[in-house]
Amino acid sequence: MNYPRLKIAVSDCLRGTECRYNGGHAQDDFVNDHLAKYADFYPFCPEAAVMGTPRETIRLVGIDTEVRVIGPKSNSDYTEGLQAYNDKIIPKILSHKMDGAVVKSRSPSCGLERIKVYQPNGEWHGSKDPMQSGLFTGDLQKAAPHLAIEEEGRLTDAWLRESFMLHAFTSARWREFSEAQPNVVEFQAFHRDHKYLFQSKNEAIYRELGALVAATRKHNLAESLLKYEQKMFALLACRSTKGHMKNVLDHIYGYFKNEVTPLEKEHYFETVAEFINDIVPLIAVIKVLEQFLKHYGSDYLASQVFFHPYPADLALRSQTSAYR
Ligand code: SF4
Repeated sequence: MNYPRLKIAVSDCLRGTECRYNGGHAQDDFVNDHLAKYADFYPFCPEAAVMGTPRETIRLVGIDTEVRVIGPKSNSDYTEGLQAYNDKIIPKILSHKMDGAVVKSRSPSCGLERIKVYQPNGEWHGSKDPMQSGLFTGDLQKAAPHLAIEEEGRLTDAWLRESFMLHAFTSARWREFSEAQPNVVEFQAFHRDHKYLFQSKNEAIYRELGALVAATRKHNLAESLLKYEQKMFALLACRSTKGHMKNVLDHIYGYFKNEVTPLEKEHYFETVAEFINDIVPLIAVIKVLEQFLKHYGSDYLASQVFFHPYPADLALRSQTSAYR
């Protein structure tokens, strides 16, 4: 199975670069041991570029209606410099067509969420004070709302990790597909091959995508591809649930229901029930269906991306906690 190489923007300290305020790094095992095998990285470090390393720590501070970036030790305001870095570097990174970004948690520059905005007197009064994303990641989200962005800490959650990787690999497949200037028949094939993968995410958006493809002819192909891309990224932002997944598994089983033996039928339904009850992971059900596919055959199912949406050694379907 061939997989496209991912393009991932990443907080440089997560790669092990010693660019943190104290000259240290925040090397992350998932980024460097797993993701690196399948991705080219596009690193950024706003603070090192603007303030140097080592440097004083900074925090977000709400002043009047604005959020500024202040170094409390020197009382310096670094907002303009950091903003200028974002304005220059974010378009540069995005010009390479990213498939995702992994950002450092708890950073006033790189954090995705829950970064404290302090009072001007430096106090933090708890949850009644606002929290938001870091300055860089907030701007990255605004510039690329479709992009899969996660913090390294959140990626230890199997459900979020599976969702992130599915989003990134589908984005990369779409990037390569659309860059190859597909014709209408190839567009139909892309949609057909993603049927069960997309259904497992969001049935309603999947149907809208289908209507769009059905209405596409040579004269409106370019416009349809653009609309498809927007809807597809909205679909990818949805998290798979066990309920959606079970519907898809049962649909696939439907291809074989008149051919399987009573024992095979029992085995399938037992395994699905165990998946729903957190006893076995999704991969166990998929293996049963793959066995049916090998034995009974189906050209339509054989080309479904659903069976292998990302490299198997990432083991994203091997944990019961990967689906909720
Ligand atoms: S969290 Fe962001 S700004 Fe801080 S060291 Fe890492 S890359 Fe640099």
